[in-house]
Amino acid sequence: MSVMPLFSPFAPHFSREAVFPVGSRLRRADRILPVFLPFAGCPGRCVFCAQDRQTGSGGDVDGNLRAAAALLDEIRPEQSIELAFYGGTFTALPAEQRKKALALYTRYRSSGKVNCGRCSTRPDALGAGTPSAVLRELAEAGLDLVELGVQSFSDTALHLARRGYDGTGAEAGCRAVPAAGLKLGIQLLPGMPGVTPEVFLHDVDRALELRPACLRFYPCLVPEGTELAGMWRAGNYAPWTEEKTVAALGEGLRRAWEAGVPVIRLAVAPEPVFDTALLAGPRHPALGGLIRAEALLRTTERALRRLGGAPGRLYLPRACQGYMYGHKGALRARWAALGLPPERIVFTAGEDARLCGPPETH
Ligand code: SF4
Repeated sequence: MSVMPLFSPFAPHFSREAVFPVGSRLRRADRILPVFLPFAGCPGRCVFCAQDRQTGSGGDVDGNLRAAAALLDEIRPEQSIELAFYGGTFTALPAEQRKKALALYTRYRSSGKVNCGRCSTRPDALGAGTPSAVLRELAEAGLDLVELGVQSFSDTALHLARRGYDGTGAEAGCRAVPAAGLKLGIQLLPGMPGVTPEVFLHDVDRALELRPACLRFYPCLVPEGTELAGMWRAGNYAPWTEEKTVAALGEGLRRAWEAGVPVIRLAVAPEPVFDTALLAGPRHPALGGLIRAEALLRTTERALRRLGGAPGRLYLPRACQGYMYGHKGALRARWAALGLPPERIVFTAGEDARLCGPPETH
């Protein structure tokens, strides 16, 4: 969605105004119930991956399915639930395990306890044919969103991470999901070997062209026990700094907002076991907020350029209030330099931002 100056009859006291999106949520249920299946179905271990530590969950698929069923039995029926199979390569699970997982999903969906479901997998594990047998199986079970761990569309980066597919293969996987009647989610890994900020922004553009239902950005970290840790120790890999991460992901998020695509993760979720094992990489407790703040500034700067002239007032959704000035107010000076000190910013209940020129004087 591009920023268009609007001349609204509802704001007659402002000379000009621009309305622009600053992020929407992908709200599918009151609660997501994750069922972690670390490394299950994976063809090998990718150089950066520490799913076991990241999810804080063991690799016992049957045990994890039983635990999910026990939790679902306890949940109050008035909550809507999304069941999410994360942490491995769902479409490459042994057929019997995948059928058990899908049977769990359909059982609770039929009973009304679960109202939608997703899984995560790799773009090269979707099988052949359009739609492939495995994607048909997911669609028939009523799962409606498939998230693909694409990581990058760059041939070089995919080769360095030994992902086993190239950019063309990644794109083919992304096209296969909607062709099977399923919604597509795309996960990118900014900062993985071979992914510079320029490569990442190219990845974002390529992902947005595929019209996904959502994106995730996971800035690459260096956990102990991965091959990346060895590369880092040998001086063959350096993770992005926090500043580089905030700048690049801020721009990537701005582009996603403009395209109307929700970015549902901007950092790996906090997990004590994972954080203890972390050796290097951009890990700040408020990283998501810092990235959102950067994206909001960049979005507003562009709207201001399109609007032309000095700003009068900026109306922002209330959700922006908590993060817009960055860590300890570090971005206040940049907002003031735009001509938008705090007294010119108003928080509202809306979802979009509205930037107005100065009030008319005649
Ligand atoms: S990145 Fe994905 S495919 Fe690779 S090991 Fe981790 S879960 Fe498996």
